[in-house]
Amino acid sequence: MNLIRNGIGMTSERTRLRMIERLRDRGIQNEQVLQAMFAIPRHVFVEPALESRAYDDAALPLGQGQTISQPHTVARMSELLLASPLKPRKVLEIGTGCGYQTSILSCLVDEVFSVERLGTLLERARANLKALNIRNARLAHADGQAGLIEAAPYDAILVTAASRDVPAALLTQLKPQGRIIMPLGDATQQHLWVIEEIDRQQRRTRYDAVRFVPLLTGRG
Ligand code: SAH
Repeated sequence: MNLIRNGIGMTSERTRLRMIERLRDRGIQNEQVLQAMFAIPRHVFVEPALESRAYDDAALPLGQGQTISQPHTVARMSELLLASPLKPRKVLEIGTGCGYQTSILSCLVDEVFSVERLGTLLERARANLKALNIRNARLAHADGQAGLIEAAPYDAILVTAASRDVPAALLTQLKPQGRIIMPLGDATQQHLWVIEEIDRQQRRTRYDAVRFVPLLTGRG
């Protein structure tokens, strides 16, 4: 069993390399993002029963009705982050889940802040980040619709749960030229959007069709 966890079998480097090749085939081009996706072992974040599917390009259940995002979506959001006109150094994520996207971000920017409304998931994320020795991510148990004022303003904000519109507080916690990357839509149809302010005008650009769990209100 230990051998499997240590990299022989389904969780081996070879399996991870195949995931990277699939991401390339599906249009992910940013080498920094691909390297981060190779470096972070996704099997650490999924439940043991699902470990053999950890490198499939699919969202997987985390319990409590929540999911670990699909690798392609994580890669896409990370690419949109790095394509920002402002070099992203300090980034806020809303919806930590088990911390997979947080870990990828920690490879790409100097400082990551991530907010999760469910305490049990946040504790799992904390344990996962510790296991991987990630030190530049700070996690908070809060309703991310209010952003995270303590460390604002941010170069970019990534929201990993879907809502009909951008929570107003997030717009106020963004640096000038910063961007918000988030899924907008409802249970039936969602797309990734980049929201930025250019010459004091808000500009919204639509990207891939996606499927995220909903952005909810309050803590649990
Ligand atoms: N970033 C995760 C995705 C987790 S799924 C990954 O890499 O896999 C989305 C998460 O958003 C869930 O854990 C859910 O509990 C959380 N969430 C939903 N509404 C929220 C809110 N208002 N504030 C903070 N987290 C929220």
